[in-house]
Amino acid sequence: AADVAMYQAKQLGRSNIQYYSPDMRVAAGKRLTLEGKLRHAAENNELVLHYQPKADIKSGRIVGVEALVRWQNPELGMVSPGVFIPIAEESGLIVPIGDWILRTACAQALAWQQAGLHIPVAVNLSAKQFQAPGIAARVRDTLEATGLDPHYLELELTESMSMGNPEKSIDIMQSFKALGITLTIDDFGTGYSNLSYLQRFPLDKLKLDQSFVRDMTHSPEALAISQAVLAVAHSLHLKVVAEGVETLEQLQLLAKSNCEEMQGYYFSRPLPAEDCTRFLSEKRRLSLQETVPFKTGAT
Ligand code: C2E
Ligand code: MG
Ligand code: MG
Ligand code: MG
Repeated sequence: AADVAMYQAKQLGRSNIQYYSPDMRVAAGKRLTLEGKLRHAAENNELVLHYQPKADIKSGRIVGVEALVRWQNPELGMVSPGVFIPIAEESGLIVPIGDWILRTACAQALAWQQAGLHIPVAVNLSAKQFQAPGIAARVRDTLEATGLDPHYLELELTESMSMGNPEKSIDIMQSFKALGITLTIDDFGTGYSNLSYLQRFPLDKLKLDQSFVRDMTHSPEALAISQAVLAVAHSLHLKVVAEGVETLEQLQLLAKSNCEEMQGYYFSRPLPAEDCTRFLSEKRRLSLQETVPFKTGAT
């Protein structure tokens, strides 16, 4: 019921009377506290990026990393992005925070390149960040300021961000593409999953949502949907990244279904930058010296 009320409140917008249940008032109070602290999070150095490696599913070769933001507050402890990103979005804080994330991730990718680790970095863009005026210019300026080759930047977008105005979204995506950035649709299969968007948007990759990966080994329906998504993606020349891969069994099923890339705890958790540097150099050393391919058990 709270979800429905929240949904209706959102639909009504700011100028209308909104009805909140008592437990939502508590939630609203907590939100304000979080928002107040979040306002100073970047300047107080409380934000940090972790990086989760992604691998080619057949060879195990690292093909990239995804930057995932973390908020460590002295009073609140670790706040998950699932909690604070929505607050950042609704308060407008996502714009400065998003800029910080992009700058930090690009600088890290450049530092890895300078250390001989040529790894593309994927950054999540939230809907509000994507819709904020001048997003394409901000991304271009950040690339210029950090000096990162745009081919080493991937942006993860969600379907929801383009619902309102698909034409404008396509324009923005095209300006990203013109720079040489890789575009990926995140969490595919949740939300609206409008298939026509896959055709109309200038996308390179699709991330199969982790809920399908989680269920595919015991739910024939989840497996069927995953395979259908893979088939549609491939026929549109999109590469598929499976997210949330935790077991060898999932990995084997995905490899058999010709999924190209995987990301998940089975391969690596999201890591602080220094740990990720170690992971990347270790794997690179192995891939240069070892000829044994990554064991998926699938042929
Ligand atoms: P996402 O972009 O779909 O990121 C994947 C989430 O799955 C991450 O959660 C990651 O830690 C988690 N994950 C990775 N492998 C596994 C696995 O094997 N099993 C399970 N159960 N989970 C796995 P996280 O870091 O808590 O982020 C949650 C969401 O918050 C992200 O979903 C993304 O939508 C948002 N987010 C995170 N960082 C950023 C950011 O820098 N900017 C924006 N705008 N959103 C972000
Ligand atoms: Mg993502
Ligand atoms: Mg995702
Ligand atoms: Mg997800």
